Amino acid sequence: MSVTTEQLITWLQRSAAVLRENKEYLTQLDSSIGDADHGINMDRGFTAVMDRLPGVADKDAGTILKTVGTTLVSTVGGASGPLYGTAFLRAGTSLAGKFELQDGDVLAALEAALEGIMARGKAKPGEKTMVDTLQPAIESFKAALEASEPLKAALAKAIQRAEEGMKATIPMLATKGRASYLGERSIGHQDPGATSSWLFLRAMGGN
Ligand code: ADP
Ligand code: MG
Repeated sequence: MSVTTEQLITWLQRSAAVLRENKEYLTQLDSSIGDADHGINMDRGFTAVMDRLPGVADKDAGTILKTVGTTLVSTVGGASGPLYGTAFLRAGTSLAGKFELQDGDVLAALEAALEGIMARGKAKPGEKTMVDTLQPAIESFKAALEASEPLKAALAKAIQRAEEGMKATIPMLATKGRASYLGERSIGHQDPGATSSWLFLRAMGGN
C-alpha cells in the first residue's frame, strides 16, 4: 500500500488542527518546565504552514515537506522551530521527487526527521526531549515493517510506543533546552516537545 501526497497533506491539516486543539495544553506543560510558549509556537508555525500549503499541494512530497520545514524555521521563535523545521527539511530531502510513498519511504522520512532533530539539538534519548517520543516510536515502526507487518499496523504500534516514550519523560532529568536550567526541578513533569511529537504521530493514525 502506498501513501499519496493527498494523504500527506491530510496529515499536515490534521496536525494543524490537533496542535490548535492542544495549544493550551502544550503551553501549560511548558509553563511547568519552560517559558509557557510551546503551544503558541506550534500553533503559530502550523497556521503559517496551512497558509502556504495550497501553493505546493500539487508538488512532490519532498517539496511539500521542505515547505513545511522552511515555514517552521522562519515563523517559530524558540527551540522547537529550528528543531521541527530541520526534521521536516530532512524528511523532505529523503522524499525528493516522490508522489507515491512506499512503506520504506515513510520509514526513511521518519528516520531522516529524527536524525535531523538529534543533530540540530545535539540530543540523544533520555534527555527529556521530543527525541524520547520519536526514537522508540520509529524503532518500533522499523521493526514492525521488517517483520512484514502492514503500514497501518506498524503505525499503530509506533503510536503506542510514542505515547509510552512521552510518558517516560515525566521522571527524567532535563539536560537539553530551557528545562535543563531547572536541574532536579525538571523531574516530575511531562516534556512539552515530547508531547507535540506524540500528537504528530497520533495524527498519522487518523486522530
Ligand atoms: P523554547 O524552549 O525555546 O521556548 P519550545 O517551548 O517551543 O521552545 O520547545 C521546547 C521543547 O523543545 C522542549 O520541550 C524539548 O522537547 C525540545 N527541545 C529543546 N531543546 C532541545 C534539544 N537541544 N534537542 C531536542 N529537543 C529539544
Ligand atoms: Mg518554550
